[in-house]
Amino acid sequence: MSEVTLIRGATVAGAPQDILLSGGIITEMGDNVSAPAAQVLDAGGLIALPGLVDLHTHLREPGREDAETVQTGTAAAALGGFTAVHAMANTEPVADTAGVVEQVWRLGREAGHADVQPVGAVTVGLQGKQLAELGAMADSAARVRVFSDDGKCVADPLLMRRALEYVKAFGGVIAQHAQDPRLTEGAQLNEGEMSGRLGLAGWPAVAEEGIVARDCLLAAHVGSALHVCHVSTAGSVEIIRWAKSKGWPVTAEVTPHHLLLTDELAVGYDPVFKVNPPLRTKADVQALREALADGTIDCVATDHAPHPAEAKETEWAEAAWGMTGLETALRVVQLAMVETGLLDWAGVADRMSVRPARIGRLAGHGIPLGAGGPANITLYDPAAPAETVSAHGASKSRNTPFAGMALPGRVVATFLRGNPTVLDGKLSR
Ligand SMILES: [Zn+2]
Repeated sequence: MSEVTLIRGATVAGAPQDILLSGGIITEMGDNVSAPAAQVLDAGGLIALPGLVDLHTHLREPGREDAETVQTGTAAAALGGFTAVHAMANTEPVADTAGVVEQVWRLGREAGHADVQPVGAVTVGLQGKQLAELGAMADSAARVRVFSDDGKCVADPLLMRRALEYVKAFGGVIAQHAQDPRLTEGAQLNEGEMSGRLGLAGWPAVAEEGIVARDCLLAAHVGSALHVCHVSTAGSVEIIRWAKSKGWPVTAEVTPHHLLLTDELAVGYDPVFKVNPPLRTKADVQALREALADGTIDCVATDHAPHPAEAKETEWAEAAWGMTGLETALRVVQLAMVETGLLDWAGVADRMSVRPARIGRLAGHGIPLGAGGPANITLYDPAAPAETVSAHGASKSRNTPFAGMALPGRVVATFLRGNPTVLDGKLSR
């Protein structure tokens, strides 16, 4: 496709618009835009969103290329409508130095499917003992602003305080995986009726909520930004709502799977439903949806966590934690949030692009579509007939909990700085 593209008749904020892309930016937007030399893409009936941004992706490279690579993970991202992803630090080696974050950043640029913004580890080796070189990662070519030990909780309150103090100087944010390690020793499934029935060790809501409450207080005390990863309980929502009502610098995300699935799915002991934090109850799902709708939870983040088949196709207790999610995120959000009347498409643009880019301190993304802005665009067909999700996608791994489920909608095209990464639902490069 030529460098100049005219998207004809896409719906933006409820009204059909023509969008002209040239030189990586949106040069014109409105009715009856004419551009004789442009490649025309008829987008009647399609929703145009600013390119989606994921705050929480596991790309697994370096070290676990059997599960995912930057190449395959960003291809999955593009197919899901994402133009930028934040790559979590729990790689091998851990992304706890300028060298590793620069490596991941460079691999992202080479792959070209989506911008890759590395997240730096908070502690050396994710060991929770000593702060990593946060300043060196911030000053590196990767310009890291989000730090997280995700997969593990920064459980030591003094270390968490020091991390918040450190990143305050350059406007960074600590993204916490809120899991009290002592309260979740051996835990397998949300503590409740299902864990009792299945004889799986329970993972109590308080193990998340206790850390969320403590960290909100620390963020307020230090005056530095906290982001709460993958909120999964109604109680966490209440704590975050309270912290925000105080004006504290706290943001939060929810995953697509926690917006749709419950612990009842564990009934057949299929480890595809084993995830950290665990799937919770219907009441939690409802509270999470309402919190995303009212803005208490700022954004959707996938926690895309690919694993090779042998790590998931085993007994529940032995299986790896996590689910893939990039390719299905927008469709799940349509089902859980749009079709329930909780969010309109402008709301989806805000929760899946604008706010995650802002929280991730990501320049050039999350900017509402308009003339002069970057040509990062997702074209989505919400009326596409519900199609059954296949486990076989662009991701190297197949551990999607949505396999076999009928989800509505279809990502038709994705543009990264005016270049199509996806056209007609297929990778274009
Ligand atoms: Zn996590």
